[in-house]
Amino acid sequence: MRKGILFVISGPSGAGKGTVLKEVFKKVKDLTYSVSATTRKPRHEEKEGINYFFKTDEEFDQMIKNGEMLEYVNKYGSRYGTIKSYIEKVLNEGKDIILEIETIGAQKVKKTRLEPVSIFLTPSKLDILTDRLKYRNTESPDWQQRRLQIGIEEMMSAYDYDYLVINDDLENAVDEVVAIIKAERLKVKNNKDLIDRIINKGEKKND
Ligand code: 5GP
Repeated sequence: MRKGILFVISGPSGAGKGTVLKEVFKKVKDLTYSVSATTRKPRHEEKEGINYFFKTDEEFDQMIKNGEMLEYVNKYGSRYGTIKSYIEKVLNEGKDIILEIETIGAQKVKKTRLEPVSIFLTPSKLDILTDRLKYRNTESPDWQQRRLQIGIEEMMSAYDYDYLVINDDLENAVDEVVAIIKAERLKVKNNKDLIDRIINKGEKKND
């Protein structure tokens, strides 16, 4: 059976990963979102098991100890981690999954044997990042400044990704991410079983 494709979308904080992905999910069928664990407190609209699995520090420590994390980072004063068993289960079922994570975690995932397809999402100018974070209005000005600095550092890792998507125009960015997913799904290496089936059917007709 075809193994699922692991997609990783990353980029500086405020690049619009969440907004882009929400629209991508409306247009792409059979794609699973990887729900991370975090020690951060839920924001107003966020729901347990949908946006994140919200954990206490002790629970998060235990998950690390149990080897449950594919990767995890300590960022912005909270911890965020990708749950390994869930990803492996989805991939082994032949389904595609997408991780929306920050850049250090994305680099760690790249080093695993899961062969992720990595997409770097960024606005064309980094000052847009602070404007977006101000608009989001969930962080103090100090934190916004610190996050912009982190954004510059994160931008340096863009060279290591498979794809670059500029998010100045939401619709365009969504179309490009959708195009990447569709192109990856069409790769021969992801369709060997389909080729086998076509050959088998042809051979049966010729018997
Ligand atoms: P937020 O607090 O705004 O939801 O997320 C902060 C950052 O953490 C975002 O860049 C988000 O993509 C990232 N993030 C969310 N889940 C994970 C995860 O499991 N691992 C890593 N490395 N980063 C994550």
